[in-house]
Amino acid sequence: MKTFFSSLVLVSLLSTGMAFAQTKVIAHRGAWKNTGAPQNSLASLNEAIKMGCYGSEFDVHMSADSGLFINHDHTYQGISLETTPSAQLAGLKLPNGESLPTLEAYLKEGLKQKKTRLILEIKASKIGKERSLTLTDKVVQTVKAMKGRKLVDYISFDYDVCKRVKELDPKANVAYLMGDKAPEQLAADGLYGLDYHFTIMKKNENWIREAHDKKLTVNVWTVNDKDTMNWLVERKAEFITTDEPETLLQLTKSL
Ligand code: MG
Repeated sequence: MKTFFSSLVLVSLLSTGMAFAQTKVIAHRGAWKNTGAPQNSLASLNEAIKMGCYGSEFDVHMSADSGLFINHDHTYQGISLETTPSAQLAGLKLPNGESLPTLEAYLKEGLKQKKTRLILEIKASKIGKERSLTLTDKVVQTVKAMKGRKLVDYISFDYDVCKRVKELDPKANVAYLMGDKAPEQLAADGLYGLDYHFTIMKKNENWIREAHDKKLTVNVWTVNDKDTMNWLVERKAEFITTDEPETLLQLTKSL
């Protein structure tokens, strides 16, 4: 009987460990490349959800009058998001007819479900640090107000933005994107993990183990080829951010 229970414990420990080790799929700007949905649209978010991605990434900027909008670049159709009022941005259309999404509209859509996490990138302002931090405050406030805290993880290239999120919401998962800091520092600052470009991870392979030793998660962007996917899966990266979520889902399912 004792042996039976020990085996049971062992099996459950093993399966927990294995489940944790399985690399999870994050769709970069939603699932757009093979679906025809525009990047950073509600449609690409819904495609990522439908596919069963662990997370769907998107980018947030602040308008001239402090409205929050989803877009990758600092401009959309040649219009600068940071220097244009919300009323004008709200009138812009994506190629599929959707309006340029506001953060509220995006969260409202994403929070209709609970499985796919919303990986929210706070884009640093081109105007100055103060605006980046104001944007951060407004983003965290909006996530809290919309009761999205449990489903939203934060990422940013700006380390001050990462630290500000932790101040505002100490329980939030925050990962840093730039790739210029060793895991030790991220751990010292209470971050959730690193989220670095694959070329940086290949140059600093030891960072994967160091991150894991420090209980940090490893996320790597933007990985679209199977060889790099396999390289990271073998090294037990927690997450891969990809424009090819279909390929990565297939690859991780077959393991
Ligand atoms: Mg991004």
